[in-house]
Amino acid sequence: MTDSFPAPCRGRFAPSPTGALHVGNARTALLAWLHARAAGGTFVMRVEDLDFGRVRPGIMEAQLDDLRWLGLDWDEGPDAGGPHAPYVQSERVALYEDALRRLARDGHLFACGCSRRDIAAAASAPHAGEEGPRYSGMCRRHPVPGDAVSITRWAVSERALRFRVDDAEEEVCFDDGVQGRACFRPAADTGDFVVRRKDGLAAYQLAVVVDDAAMGITDVVRGGDLLGSTARQILLFRALGLPAPRYAHVPLMLGADGERLAKRHGSVSLAELRGEGVAPEKVAGWLASTCGLAEPGEHVLPADLVPRFSTSLIPAAPTIVTGASLAALRTR
Ligand code: GLU
Repeated sequence: MTDSFPAPCRGRFAPSPTGALHVGNARTALLAWLHARAAGGTFVMRVEDLDFGRVRPGIMEAQLDDLRWLGLDWDEGPDAGGPHAPYVQSERVALYEDALRRLARDGHLFACGCSRRDIAAAASAPHAGEEGPRYSGMCRRHPVPGDAVSITRWAVSERALRFRVDDAEEEVCFDDGVQGRACFRPAADTGDFVVRRKDGLAAYQLAVVVDDAAMGITDVVRGGDLLGSTARQILLFRALGLPAPRYAHVPLMLGADGERLAKRHGSVSLAELRGEGVAPEKVAGWLASTCGLAEPGEHVLPADLVPRFSTSLIPAAPTIVTGASLAALRTR
Protein backbone atom coordinates (compact mmCIF):
# COMPACT_ATOMS: atom_id res chain seq x y z
CA MET A 1 0.00 0.00 0.00
CA THR A 2 1.14 3.51 -0.65
CA ASP A 3 1.81 6.26 1.84
CA SER A 4 -0.57 8.64 0.08
CA PHE A 5 -3.16 8.37 2.85
CA PRO A 6 -1.90 10.67 5.57
CA ALA A 7 -4.35 9.65 8.32
CA PRO A 8 -3.26 7.14 10.95
CA CYS A 9 -4.39 3.65 9.98
CA ARG A 10 -7.88 2.60 11.06
CA GLY A 11 -8.70 -0.95 10.05
CA ARG A 12 -11.74 -3.07 10.70
CA PHE A 13 -13.26 -6.52 10.58
CA ALA A 14 -16.94 -6.68 9.76
CA PRO A 15 -18.41 -10.12 10.40
CA SER A 16 -22.01 -11.03 9.61
CA PRO A 17 -23.50 -12.95 12.55
CA THR A 18 -25.08 -15.67 10.44
CA GLY A 19 -23.04 -18.66 11.61
CA ALA A 20 -19.90 -19.76 13.40
CA LEU A 21 -16.63 -18.28 12.09
CA HIS A 22 -14.73 -20.85 10.08
CA VAL A 23 -11.01 -20.90 9.41
CA GLY A 24 -11.37 -18.78 6.26
CA ASN A 25 -13.14 -15.99 8.15
CA ALA A 26 -10.61 -16.30 10.95
CA ARG A 27 -7.68 -15.88 8.58
CA THR A 28 -9.24 -12.77 7.05
CA ALA A 29 -9.80 -11.37 10.56
CA LEU A 30 -6.20 -12.18 11.50
CA LEU A 31 -4.82 -10.46 8.39
CA ALA A 32 -7.00 -7.37 8.88
CA TRP A 33 -5.88 -7.21 12.51
CA LEU A 34 -2.19 -7.67 11.58
CA HIS A 35 -2.44 -4.94 8.96
CA ALA A 36 -3.79 -2.43 11.49
CA ARG A 37 -1.48 -3.48 14.32
CA ALA A 38 1.67 -3.53 12.17
CA ALA A 39 0.83 0.05 11.13
CA GLY A 40 0.39 1.02 14.78
CA GLY A 41 -3.23 1.70 13.95
CA THR A 42 -6.67 1.28 15.48
CA PHE A 43 -8.72 -1.84 14.93
CA VAL A 44 -12.51 -1.62 14.80
CA MET A 45 -14.98 -4.48 15.10
CA ARG A 46 -18.24 -3.82 13.31
CA VAL A 47 -21.09 -6.31 13.21
CA GLU A 48 -23.01 -6.44 9.93
CA ASP A 49 -26.35 -7.81 11.07
CA LEU A 50 -28.71 -6.21 8.54
CA ASP A 51 -29.66 -9.46 6.85
CA PHE A 52 -32.36 -10.17 9.40
CA GLY A 53 -33.46 -13.36 7.66
CA ARG A 54 -30.05 -14.97 8.18
CA VAL A 55 -28.90 -13.44 11.46
CA ARG A 56 -29.19 -15.76 14.48
CA PRO A 57 -29.36 -14.64 18.10
CA GLY A 58 -26.21 -15.22 20.14
CA ILE A 59 -23.96 -15.62 17.10
CA MET A 60 -22.44 -12.13 17.39
CA GLU A 61 -21.35 -12.77 20.96
CA ALA A 62 -19.99 -16.22 20.02
CA GLN A 63 -18.02 -14.82 17.05
CA LEU A 64 -16.45 -12.07 19.13
CA ASP A 65 -15.63 -14.55 21.87
CA ASP A 66 -13.94 -16.89 19.37
CA LEU A 67 -11.89 -14.06 17.86
CA ARG A 68 -10.74 -13.03 21.30
CA TRP A 69 -9.85 -16.64 22.07
CA LEU A 70 -7.69 -16.64 18.93
CA GLY A 71 -5.76 -13.69 20.37
CA LEU A 72 -7.27 -10.75 18.51
CA ASP A 73 -8.37 -7.55 20.20
CA TRP A 74 -10.11 -4.40 19.08
CA ASP A 75 -10.10 -0.81 20.25
CA GLU A 76 -13.68 -0.09 19.24
CA GLY A 77 -16.61 -2.42 18.83
CA PRO A 78 -20.02 -3.51 20.11
CA ASP A 79 -18.60 -4.66 23.43
CA ALA A 80 -15.77 -2.10 23.64
CA GLY A 81 -17.72 1.05 22.72
CA GLY A 82 -15.90 3.93 21.06
CA PRO A 83 -16.38 7.32 19.45
CA HIS A 84 -18.32 5.92 16.48
CA ALA A 85 -20.80 3.79 18.42
CA PRO A 86 -23.04 1.97 17.82
CA TYR A 87 -20.91 -0.68 16.10
CA VAL A 88 -23.83 -2.92 15.14
CA GLN A 89 -25.45 -2.07 11.82
CA SER A 90 -29.04 -2.71 12.90
CA GLU A 91 -28.61 0.22 15.30
CA ARG A 92 -27.31 2.55 12.58
CA VAL A 93 -30.27 2.70 10.20
CA ALA A 94 -30.73 6.47 10.62
CA LEU A 95 -27.31 6.99 9.01
CA TYR A 96 -28.27 4.83 6.04
CA GLU A 97 -31.55 6.71 5.62
CA ASP A 98 -29.67 9.98 5.68
CA ALA A 99 -27.27 8.78 2.96
CA LEU A 100 -30.22 7.54 0.87
CA ARG A 101 -31.84 10.95 1.15
CA ARG A 102 -28.65 12.63 -0.03
CA LEU A 103 -28.33 10.23 -2.96
CA ALA A 104 -31.99 10.73 -3.87
CA ARG A 105 -31.67 14.51 -3.62
CA ASP A 106 -28.78 14.40 -6.08
CA GLY A 107 -30.75 12.29 -8.54
CA HIS A 108 -28.87 9.02 -8.08
CA LEU A 109 -31.76 6.77 -7.06
CA PHE A 110 -34.79 5.20 -8.64
CA ALA A 111 -37.37 2.75 -7.36
CA CYS A 112 -37.52 -0.73 -8.80
CA GLY A 113 -40.10 -3.43 -8.19
CA CYS A 114 -38.51 -5.93 -10.58
CA SER A 115 -38.09 -9.50 -9.47
CA ARG A 116 -34.92 -11.46 -10.17
CA ARG A 117 -36.89 -13.20 -12.88
CA ASP A 118 -37.81 -9.91 -14.59
CA ILE A 119 -34.18 -8.85 -14.50
CA ALA A 120 -32.93 -12.15 -15.90
CA ALA A 121 -35.54 -11.98 -18.68
CA ALA A 122 -34.54 -8.43 -19.64
CA ALA A 123 -30.79 -9.06 -19.57
CA SER A 124 -29.41 -9.30 -23.07
CA ALA A 125 -26.59 -11.58 -22.02
CA PRO A 126 -27.50 -13.15 -18.69
CA HIS A 127 -24.55 -14.65 -16.91
CA ALA A 128 -24.72 -16.93 -13.96
CA GLY A 129 -22.36 -15.04 -11.70
CA GLU A 130 -22.96 -14.73 -7.95
CA GLU A 131 -24.32 -11.26 -8.53
CA GLY A 132 -26.95 -12.37 -11.00
CA PRO A 133 -27.50 -10.88 -14.44
CA ARG A 134 -26.70 -7.26 -15.22
CA TYR A 135 -29.59 -4.92 -14.48
CA SER A 136 -30.85 -3.37 -17.71
CA GLY A 137 -32.05 -0.06 -16.23
CA MET A 138 -35.68 -0.74 -17.04
CA CYS A 139 -37.13 1.15 -14.02
CA ARG A 140 -35.00 4.26 -14.37
CA ARG A 141 -38.11 6.23 -15.16
CA HIS A 142 -39.09 6.11 -11.46
CA PRO A 143 -36.60 8.51 -9.87
CA VAL A 144 -36.98 8.99 -6.15
CA PRO A 145 -37.26 12.57 -4.93
CA GLY A 146 -34.97 13.38 -2.06
CA ASP A 147 -37.35 14.38 0.69
CA ALA A 148 -37.87 12.20 3.73
CA VAL A 149 -41.56 11.63 3.05
CA SER A 150 -40.86 10.12 -0.33
CA ILE A 151 -38.13 7.89 1.01
CA THR A 152 -40.52 6.56 3.64
CA ARG A 153 -43.24 6.08 1.06
CA TRP A 154 -40.91 4.17 -1.23
CA ALA A 155 -39.82 2.07 1.72
CA VAL A 156 -43.26 0.61 2.21
CA SER A 157 -44.01 0.21 -1.47
CA GLU A 158 -42.14 -3.09 -1.83
CA ARG A 159 -39.75 -1.56 -4.25
CA ALA A 160 -36.02 -1.60 -3.97
CA LEU A 161 -34.02 1.58 -4.42
CA ARG A 162 -31.29 1.30 -7.02
CA PHE A 163 -28.27 3.49 -7.56
CA ARG A 164 -28.09 4.64 -11.15
CA VAL A 165 -24.74 3.79 -12.72
CA ASP A 166 -24.03 6.27 -15.44
CA ASP A 167 -23.84 4.45 -18.77
CA ALA A 168 -20.87 6.63 -19.64
CA GLU A 169 -19.09 5.42 -16.48
CA GLU A 170 -15.81 4.10 -17.67
CA GLU A 171 -13.64 1.74 -15.74
CA VAL A 172 -13.40 2.18 -12.00
CA CYS A 173 -9.84 1.33 -10.99
CA PHE A 174 -8.08 1.12 -7.64
CA ASP A 175 -4.74 -0.09 -6.34
CA ASP A 176 -5.39 -3.06 -4.15
CA GLY A 177 -2.79 -3.77 -1.49
CA VAL A 178 -2.76 -7.49 -2.30
CA GLN A 179 -4.32 -7.90 -5.75
CA GLY A 180 -2.53 -4.96 -7.37
CA ARG A 181 -4.27 -2.67 -9.85
CA ALA A 182 -7.91 -3.73 -10.20
CA CYS A 183 -10.36 -2.32 -12.77
CA PHE A 184 -14.06 -2.97 -13.19
CA ARG A 185 -16.84 -1.60 -15.37
CA PRO A 186 -19.88 -1.42 -13.10
CA ALA A 187 -22.11 -0.10 -15.91
CA ALA A 188 -21.40 -3.21 -17.98
CA ASP A 189 -20.81 -5.71 -15.18
CA THR A 190 -23.71 -5.22 -12.80
CA GLY A 191 -25.55 -2.11 -13.95
CA ASP A 192 -27.67 -0.08 -11.52
CA PHE A 193 -27.42 -1.77 -8.14
CA VAL A 194 -29.65 -2.03 -5.08
CA VAL A 195 -28.88 0.31 -2.19
CA ARG A 196 -32.05 -0.39 -0.30
CA ARG A 197 -33.80 -3.71 -0.48
CA LYS A 198 -37.51 -4.24 -1.05
CA ASP A 199 -37.95 -4.98 2.65
CA GLY A 200 -36.67 -1.49 3.48
CA LEU A 201 -33.25 -2.60 4.76
CA ALA A 202 -30.12 -0.83 3.59
CA ALA A 203 -28.26 -3.09 1.17
CA TYR A 204 -24.72 -4.23 1.99
CA GLN A 205 -23.11 -1.89 -0.59
CA LEU A 206 -24.67 1.19 0.98
CA ALA A 207 -24.28 0.25 4.64
CA VAL A 208 -20.62 -0.69 4.24
CA VAL A 209 -19.79 2.61 2.53
CA VAL A 210 -21.69 4.72 5.05
CA ASP A 211 -20.04 2.92 7.95
CA ASP A 212 -16.51 2.81 6.58
CA ALA A 213 -16.76 6.58 6.03
CA ALA A 214 -18.48 7.41 9.32
CA MET A 215 -16.00 5.30 11.28
CA GLY A 216 -13.02 6.89 9.57
CA ILE A 217 -11.78 3.58 8.21
CA THR A 218 -8.62 4.17 6.17
CA ASP A 219 -7.77 0.55 5.35
CA VAL A 220 -10.24 -2.17 4.39
CA VAL A 221 -8.69 -5.63 4.49
CA ARG A 222 -11.29 -8.26 3.56
CA GLY A 223 -11.91 -11.42 1.59
CA GLY A 224 -11.13 -11.54 -2.12
CA ASP A 225 -14.76 -12.42 -2.88
CA LEU A 226 -15.57 -8.74 -2.32
CA LEU A 227 -13.06 -7.37 -4.84
CA GLY A 228 -15.78 -6.84 -7.46
CA SER A 229 -18.03 -5.02 -4.97
CA THR A 230 -15.33 -2.43 -4.39
CA ALA A 231 -15.95 -0.65 -7.68
CA ARG A 232 -19.61 -0.14 -6.76
CA GLN A 233 -18.60 1.06 -3.32
CA ILE A 234 -16.21 3.57 -4.86
CA LEU A 235 -19.08 4.94 -6.97
CA LEU A 236 -21.11 5.42 -3.77
CA PHE A 237 -18.20 7.13 -1.99
CA ARG A 238 -17.92 9.50 -4.95
CA ALA A 239 -21.67 10.20 -5.10
CA LEU A 240 -21.71 10.94 -1.37
CA GLY A 241 -18.61 13.12 -1.63
CA LEU A 242 -16.67 10.92 0.78
CA PRO A 243 -13.07 9.67 0.53
CA ALA A 244 -12.74 5.97 -0.21
CA PRO A 245 -10.39 3.93 1.98
CA ARG A 246 -7.46 1.88 0.72
CA TYR A 247 -8.30 -1.73 -0.03
CA ALA A 248 -6.50 -5.03 0.32
CA HIS A 249 -8.42 -8.14 -0.72
CA VAL A 250 -6.87 -11.20 0.81
CA PRO A 251 -7.04 -14.60 -0.87
CA LEU A 252 -9.88 -17.00 -0.18
CA MET A 253 -9.19 -20.48 1.15
CA LEU A 254 -10.20 -23.21 -1.27
CA GLY A 255 -10.44 -26.97 -0.95
CA ALA A 256 -8.33 -29.29 -3.12
CA ASP A 257 -11.20 -29.31 -5.65
CA GLY A 258 -10.84 -25.54 -6.14
CA GLU A 259 -14.17 -24.82 -4.45
CA ARG A 260 -14.47 -22.45 -1.52
CA LEU A 261 -13.43 -24.22 1.66
CA ALA A 262 -16.49 -25.73 3.31
CA LYS A 263 -17.59 -28.34 5.80
CA ARG A 264 -17.41 -31.11 3.22
CA HIS A 265 -13.66 -30.48 2.84
CA GLY A 266 -13.30 -30.99 6.59
CA SER A 267 -13.21 -27.25 7.22
CA VAL A 268 -13.91 -26.38 10.79
CA SER A 269 -15.07 -23.44 12.83
CA LEU A 270 -13.04 -21.75 15.52
CA ALA A 271 -15.70 -22.92 17.98
CA GLU A 272 -15.15 -26.57 17.02
CA LEU A 273 -11.37 -26.30 17.30
CA ARG A 274 -11.74 -24.62 20.64
CA GLY A 275 -14.20 -27.29 21.78
CA GLU A 276 -11.75 -30.01 20.73
CA GLY A 277 -9.05 -28.48 22.92
CA VAL A 278 -6.78 -27.25 20.10
CA ALA A 279 -4.57 -24.42 21.40
CA PRO A 280 -5.24 -20.96 19.95
CA GLU A 281 -1.50 -20.57 19.25
CA LYS A 282 -1.68 -23.66 17.07
CA VAL A 283 -4.67 -22.28 15.16
CA ALA A 284 -3.06 -18.83 14.71
CA GLY A 285 0.18 -20.51 13.54
CA TRP A 286 -1.71 -22.71 11.09
CA LEU A 287 -3.69 -19.76 9.70
CA ALA A 288 -0.49 -17.74 9.27
CA SER A 289 1.37 -20.68 7.72
CA THR A 290 -1.32 -21.10 5.03
CA CYS A 291 -0.28 -17.74 3.59
CA GLY A 292 3.44 -17.95 4.25
CA LEU A 293 3.53 -15.84 7.41
CA ALA A 294 4.64 -18.67 9.71
CA GLU A 295 6.44 -21.99 9.37
CA PRO A 296 4.21 -25.05 9.05
CA GLY A 297 3.55 -26.41 12.53
CA GLU A 298 4.65 -23.21 14.26
CA HIS A 299 2.66 -22.13 17.31
CA VAL A 300 2.30 -18.36 17.60
CA LEU A 301 0.19 -15.71 19.19
CA PRO A 302 -1.16 -13.16 16.72
CA ALA A 303 0.87 -10.54 18.59
CA ASP A 304 4.08 -12.51 17.80
CA LEU A 305 3.35 -12.06 14.10
CA VAL A 306 3.09 -8.27 14.20
CA PRO A 307 6.85 -7.48 13.94
CA ARG A 308 7.31 -9.77 10.93
CA PHE A 309 4.10 -8.80 9.14
CA SER A 310 3.78 -6.80 5.96
CA THR A 311 0.69 -6.74 3.76
CA SER A 312 3.02 -7.06 0.77
CA LEU A 313 3.86 -10.61 1.97
CA ILE A 314 0.29 -11.83 1.48
CA PRO A 315 0.04 -13.81 -1.75
CA ALA A 316 -2.66 -12.74 -4.22
CA ALA A 317 -3.64 -16.23 -5.36
CA PRO A 318 -6.24 -18.26 -3.47
CA THR A 319 -4.90 -20.72 -0.92
CA ILE A 320 -5.55 -24.39 -1.59
CA VAL A 321 -5.98 -26.22 1.69
CA THR A 322 -5.66 -29.99 1.66
CA GLY A 323 -7.63 -32.39 3.82
CA ALA A 324 -4.33 -33.51 5.40
CA SER A 325 -3.52 -29.95 6.43
CA LEU A 326 -6.95 -29.53 8.01
CA ALA A 327 -6.62 -32.88 9.77
CA ALA A 328 -3.22 -31.81 11.17
CA LEU A 329 -4.81 -28.63 12.48
CA ARG A 330 -7.37 -30.62 14.41
CA THR A 331 -4.87 -32.71 16.33
CA ARG A 332 -4.08 -31.35 19.75
N1 GLU B 1 -19.98 -8.56 6.36
C1 GLU B 1 -19.25 -9.04 5.24
C2 GLU B 1 -19.01 -10.52 5.38
O1 GLU B 1 -19.10 -11.06 6.47
C3 GLU B 1 -17.91 -8.37 5.08
C4 GLU B 1 -18.05 -7.05 4.48
C5 GLU B 1 -16.76 -6.25 4.29
O2 GLU B 1 -15.73 -6.61 4.88
O3 GLU B 1 -16.82 -5.28 3.57
O4 GLU B 1 -18.74 -11.16 4.38
